[in-house]
Amino acid sequence: RTAKQPKPDWIKIKLTTGEDYQEIKGMMRSKTLHTVCEEARCPNIYECWANRTATFMILGDICTRACRFCAVNTGLPTELDLLEPERVAEAAEGMMLKHCVVTSVARDDLKDGGAQIFAETVAAIRKRLPLCSVEVLIPDFLGDRGSLEIVMNSNPDILNHNIETVERMSDRVRARAKYRRSLELLRRAKEIKPDIPTKSSIMLGVGEEWDEILQAMDDLRAVDCDILTLGQYLQPSPKHLNVEKYYPPEEFAMLKEEGMKRGFSHVEAGPLVRSSYHAHDQVKSAAVA
Ligand code: SF4
Ligand code: SF4
Repeated sequence: RTAKQPKPDWIKIKLTTGEDYQEIKGMMRSKTLHTVCEEARCPNIYECWANRTATFMILGDICTRACRFCAVNTGLPTELDLLEPERVAEAAEGMMLKHCVVTSVARDDLKDGGAQIFAETVAAIRKRLPLCSVEVLIPDFLGDRGSLEIVMNSNPDILNHNIETVERMSDRVRARAKYRRSLELLRRAKEIKPDIPTKSSIMLGVGEEWDEILQAMDDLRAVDCDILTLGQYLQPSPKHLNVEKYYPPEEFAMLKEEGMKRGFSHVEAGPLVRSSYHAHDQVKSAAVA
């Protein structure tokens, strides 16, 4: 365990609250909805909501896993809520979203891992908001191909699955997930629907080496992953993994260049970059790639 790293200046953000943000916030309050944006206290919330992008968490807020970087509660999940797809779609419509990210906890207790609810949520959003792009950020479904097929057949605009970290750190950082299984999921997604862009994310600062990040990029390109996001890991509480390093913006810029050289259609890299940050632009760049 290394000494605690002080938080550098570039990680602190200027909070600006525009009119659009306030309007959406009011709407969310009146509907008592849950977004990752609010619950994870995402630093990009003002910018994302003003740009009509938001991330919804479906399938409850209790996860069957306990990854060492993640603030979501672990335990016995709640019952399946079959009306959830419709409620999310209604919320997305109320927020007049242009890009909607749908994600979930890992529901290892369900036979399909929640894939059907993912698919129904995509369909419900499409029905209400035909112009809104929909990105699904899915768990690994314990490697079950049938579950992935259910999600792919709902035709999301982006299939996102995070490898989270480099191969050597994977077992220490993620609970139950496997680096190679995640790569295989991304490979299969392309096999099932070659035209749907795939995306993955690595959080930096948990103890990985520079060369290992480049190797992870190569591994992602080897399974034809199109979009990459790189952000700084921030410790949600003292119980979580320590931050081993804060990457300065210049190093993120270098990594972005390395990613573009490797042929990703879009690389979003920066200290505050999160998986769904600037996601709407990624749909556009994937479409022209
Ligand atoms: Fe929400 Fe993702 Fe934007 Fe954060 S980056 S505010 S979680 S949409
Ligand atoms: Fe958090 Fe996902 Fe890990 Fe569950 S599986 S603890 S939601 S990162």
